[in-house]
Amino acid sequence: MKNTRINLLARPIGNPAPECWEIEEVDIPEIEENQVLIQTQYLSIDPAMRGWMNEGKSYIRPVRIGEVMRALGAGIVVESKHPDFKAGDSVTATTGVQEYAVLNGKDVIKVDPAFVPLPVYLGTLGMSGLTAYFGLLETGQPKAGETVVVSGAAGAVGSVVGQIAKIKGCRVVGIAGGEEKCKYAVEELGFDACVDYKTGDLRKNLKEACPDGVDVYFDNVGGEILDTVLTLINLKARIVICGAISQYNAIQKPVGPSNYLSLLVNRARMEGIVVFDNAPNYGKAIKEMAGWVAQGKLNGKVDIAEGGIRAFPETLMKLFKGENTGKLVLKV
Ligand code: NAP
Repeated sequence: MKNTRINLLARPIGNPAPECWEIEEVDIPEIEENQVLIQTQYLSIDPAMRGWMNEGKSYIRPVRIGEVMRALGAGIVVESKHPDFKAGDSVTATTGVQEYAVLNGKDVIKVDPAFVPLPVYLGTLGMSGLTAYFGLLETGQPKAGETVVVSGAAGAVGSVVGQIAKIKGCRVVGIAGGEEKCKYAVEELGFDACVDYKTGDLRKNLKEACPDGVDVYFDNVGGEILDTVLTLINLKARIVICGAISQYNAIQKPVGPSNYLSLLVNRARMEGIVVFDNAPNYGKAIKEMAGWVAQGKLNGKVDIAEGGIRAFPETLMKLFKGENTGKLVLKV
């Protein structure tokens, strides 16, 4: 059996070009004591991958040149020498962008595909859902009746943020690119309103959608959208800095939020979050979210890209072109 994998060949400048990647076919090694062999079925495609390709200090070490690209994956155990796993188990793990992964069982999580389809464990009941859960509830601290605004509203994290904020009794306003995505946020996810940032006057439209101002802003995109929302925040507002996808491929140093003094005027707080900090509490969060899924209060589209492992480079670009609705995964 052969394993096809994708290695990082060069660090990108701007958009990750095809030359950044190397496709390699290698033998699958014999597994050792406590290891499992996983056949990857779905790969989580994440904006964070773009950051992992950069050199320099971050919350996690960069992927090394020549190394298999880091990725979360969901798949099936093919062979196990770990007491907790047997062939046929469905699992998630940091598999990397490859068809087969050999991992220590302690780094693998067993999941139940009878409860929700396997790729959902990469989205709503995976890292995206956990990011939304902890970012919104612990850092955003929304209270019933408050207005929560979330950008990237039709995406993996944003769609969960909005639904949890609804569960908590908030008015929820999304920001997304295009009429279709806004319609999805309102009609399928239950948001109160959603503003299309690609047409019209964002500030005017957002102000209309938030007649009582903004108490919590969950920011997935950064840039001008963050700067605009800063002009609409209330006293003691909380701004959750989850990501800034509008900046990830910037070649020049991005301009900072010029309206930041709104934080001073409103005695507001802006705080960054990294989902991995909450690892000790993942179990509790997943249990609560699974409850909401079972009650039909939380759902989320999985946007499945086809083409197998070799389609990884172009699938990653879909995120930056806004071509996904819901959690983007690549079917391997
Ligand atoms: P996603 O929202 O499913 O997909 C990315 C979306 O970003 C695209 O569909 C697109 O939607 C939007 N986008 C792309 N370029 C944009 C631009 N220039 N301006 C505004 N919007 C743009 O991705 P996700 O996995 O849920 O991640 C969302 C954010 O959370 C990312 O910033 C990611 O880095 C961050 N994140 C952070 C953590 C953490 O621990 N801090 C963990 C996971 C994810 P539109 O069509 O609406 O533009």
